[in-house]
Amino acid sequence: MLELVRPELRGLAGYSSARMESSRAGTLLNANESPWPQQLDRPLNRYPDPQPAALCARLAALYGVEPDQILASRGSDEAIDLLVRAFCAAGQHAVAQHGPTFGMYAVAAAVQGARVVDLGGDGAGRVDARRPDLWIDAIDASVRLVFVCAPNNPTGALADPLHTLALAQALEGRALVVVDEAYIEFSGTPGASLLVHKQSNLAVLRTLSKAHALAAARVGCLIAAPALVALLRRLMAPYPLPGPCVDAAMAATTRAALAATAARIERLIAERERVADALGKIAGVVEVMPSRANFLCVRFDSADTALALLAEAGIVVRDVRRQPKLGDALRITIGSPDENARVIRALERLATPSEAPIAEGVSP
Ligand SMILES: *Cc1c(COP(=O)(O)O)cnc(C)c1O
Repeated sequence: MLELVRPELRGLAGYSSARMESSRAGTLLNANESPWPQQLDRPLNRYPDPQPAALCARLAALYGVEPDQILASRGSDEAIDLLVRAFCAAGQHAVAQHGPTFGMYAVAAAVQGARVVDLGGDGAGRVDARRPDLWIDAIDASVRLVFVCAPNNPTGALADPLHTLALAQALEGRALVVVDEAYIEFSGTPGASLLVHKQSNLAVLRTLSKAHALAAARVGCLIAAPALVALLRRLMAPYPLPGPCVDAAMAATTRAALAATAARIERLIAERERVADALGKIAGVVEVMPSRANFLCVRFDSADTALALLAEAGIVVRDVRRQPKLGDALRITIGSPDENARVIRALERLATPSEAPIAEGVSP
């Protein structure tokens, strides 16, 4: 699988940071740090561990994998960027995705000068399981990475991990299949991380940003074959994880914190189903797409009017009408019960057109 990495990077030693070269023990005069800390709750004068063993062990336990399969990253966004840079030579290689999907794959590809091949799929951003030949055929020799977002942002649809595994098997020696599981905790399924050790060209992205309520800490990870993890560690920034963020991640993944997280997830899923039901009954709502994530993708007769009604109520949602096949849709995050009630109340005014404000200045 490492054969697919850009040849000039395979042997790259990477920057050898002071913290990598020496342990924390002893008198640390090797990293040009200040000997005196600021007067903060926690001293920050020393550079952090590039890949804290305790954090990697914690994430490995959380996801049921081995620590050497974990690349801890500054959000999963950093891992997406690293993968594209490692596998795609500018002007030569491509990434494939099933649109509509998460926009960062295409952005990372554009920054690297890689093409994006859209595989289509079933319209919800999933491979069409009935026609696997369609997507295998579309993946030509230039494609190095295939992104599968499961559950998919912005539709909420969940790809079957066994289809994803079959895709990776069919692409062995040709491309790495990357399953982005930013929302998997809301799906009621374990995801694909346990399949990674079976298939070296399969990798999984996880994050603490969504279900673990830690978006500001920017902690995510790539779960991949140990050889790929080792290689990417050499390519990434020397100190990718700020100390306070690592502390926050450790605090958010204790046994007690995980129990509280599980309760929050359960509540959120119940809210999602309740909101989906309520919105589905509103005239003017064309479809509430079935969602396994913490948001709903909703099609409207007039998304402009829906946006205007929500704006009037002070509610900001994501306009996803630029995405393929979603020309009439908005993505609405599931909030607190109070916030959700306000969304429903605002959109119920779609059914009484006389009350609806004239949509203006909102273009798709
Ligand atoms: C939010 C999101 C991410 C980014 O997560 P971070 O770990 O915060 O960088 C990755 N993938 C998808 C599909 C997302 O929606």
